[in-house]
Amino acid sequence: MSKKVAIIGAGVAGLSTGCYLQMNGYETQIFEMSQSPGGVCTSWRRKGYIFDGCIHWLVGSSPFVNLYKIWQELGAIQNKKIVNFEEFIRIEGKNGRVFTVYTNVDKLEREMIRFAPEDKQVIKKFTDAVREFTGFEIPIEKAPELYGPIDGMKFLFKMYRFLKAAKKWKKITIKDYAEKFQNPFLKEIFPLILGVDDRFAMAGLIMTLSWMHLKSAGYPIGGSLEFSKSIERRYVDLGGKVSYNSKVLKVIVENNKAVGIKLANGEIYSADIVISAADGHYTIFEMLDGKYINKEILDYYNNSELFPAITQISLGISKRFNNIPHSISFPLDKPFIIDDKNKVERVMVRIYNFDPTLAPEGKTSIIVHVPSNYEYWVKLRKRNMGKYRKEKERIAKELIVILDKRFGDIASKVEVYDVATPATYIRYTNNWKGSFEGWLPTPKMFMRRMKKTLPRLKNFYMVGQWVEPGGGLPAVALSGRNLTQVICRKDKKKFQVAI
Ligand SMILES: Cc1cc2nc3c(=O)[nH]c(=O)nc-3n(C[C@H](O)[C@H](O)[C@H](O)COP(=O)(O)OP(=O)(O)OC[C@H]3O[C@@H](n4cnc5c(N)ncnc54)[C@H](O)[C@@H]3O)c2cc1C
Repeated sequence: MSKKVAIIGAGVAGLSTGCYLQMNGYETQIFEMSQSPGGVCTSWRRKGYIFDGCIHWLVGSSPFVNLYKIWQELGAIQNKKIVNFEEFIRIEGKNGRVFTVYTNVDKLEREMIRFAPEDKQVIKKFTDAVREFTGFEIPIEKAPELYGPIDGMKFLFKMYRFLKAAKKWKKITIKDYAEKFQNPFLKEIFPLILGVDDRFAMAGLIMTLSWMHLKSAGYPIGGSLEFSKSIERRYVDLGGKVSYNSKVLKVIVENNKAVGIKLANGEIYSADIVISAADGHYTIFEMLDGKYINKEILDYYNNSELFPAITQISLGISKRFNNIPHSISFPLDKPFIIDDKNKVERVMVRIYNFDPTLAPEGKTSIIVHVPSNYEYWVKLRKRNMGKYRKEKERIAKELIVILDKRFGDIASKVEVYDVATPATYIRYTNNWKGSFEGWLPTPKMFMRRMKKTLPRLKNFYMVGQWVEPGGGLPAVALSGRNLTQVICRKDKKKFQVAI
């Protein structure tokens, strides 16, 4: 008889785990608290527009790299048109200068030297590292947890130069590397290249740019929810079951062995194995009452940096943005106040003029992310719903004025706007402190391997962005594949995949 597995969370990690376990003869059921698949990899529809909440770049989008195989196995990418951008982002400076982040590393190098010939050496060190990493492939075939001494030796032999380079580049953050430039403009714009937190280890930026150079980090037309739904379809086709609107409150444990889960509606589901693909903090400290922890886990949860909470402001605009770059960062005349702790002095706009499926013909979806204080938004929503709504409206209206000034002819063309605060992220995905991607890959966390088990607890595992520092879609999908191999090994089964 096949073993019964309860999976908590239908984000990409939970769906991937479900697919691979189904391929290997397990009987799985996913319990998801919200009403649709994907977790943070989602989109939402408002008045004919679709606002995308996730994918900017999908590593593994090209058939010429290893990771593509995983997306293929998960049915995520076949038949999808992929857009590879020539320009990753355009960054406008305060005095009208415009820096283009090209995805081609040679063009990027020329652009950097054009602005800062005096920094040629520091620039070349960086761009040479990007070139070097174009030869790097994430090994996917065997779960690292199952490596024996020979696998370890083979891995070291094959990866030595990358491991050495990664070790060097993970020690320094993007912010600190920017300080090496003499040119004030390059110093100012370098931390904005990736559009994420500048406490990121340089190794993360370098690897991402190398994937972009290879055109293996594209955008799948249809966007994030469509992508997640493709994996959900694959899971259901493989015989998996998903229960939506099914929040899990507790993992039921008997004699330090997970034996099932308890849902918010009181239902109990018994299982031979329980896997949480949900938020790590809630899993460890609520579902399991903090009973299965050790110093290492406490150190992660007490002393590690998270991707910050964000607010997404989305606009549906009844006009085209032809000949305008899809991603632009520009400075503001005066700070844009987000909440009690955040005011921004520039905004980064993503214009979905490259995906016609996200807006009615002749119209465009636009989104902006701004850093936000999750405590402020959660408290405000709880204490004063009227004020919470007004604040969301204020932010949207102020952004419209900002965009109108930058692009012209926007204000009268806005047909719909939508503001998702950290309180929204928590309500829909439960992610701790509203973090949008779990642990930030700082020098401390970059490439860190976290355990997928908890001390003293049997038949229980974790997958997803809370055990894969840095998060990201490939990492969480691989997490499910690797865990399935571990479970198969334990059950003396040969791991198999189906396409
Ligand atoms: C704005 C944004 C942009 C991003 N851009 C990219 C990108 O360009 N490329 C990339 O690779 N990655 C990107 N990411 C990151 C990537 O989307 C995530 O790392 C990944 O999707 C996380 O998947 P997950 O399954 O581990 O977690 P989640 O997506 O958080 O899934 C967890 C699921 O568990 C459910 N859940 C939680 N608690 C419970 C409970 N108690 N009971 C039942 N269900 C529960 C949640 O509802 C959720 O569906 C981005 C993320 C965001 C938010």
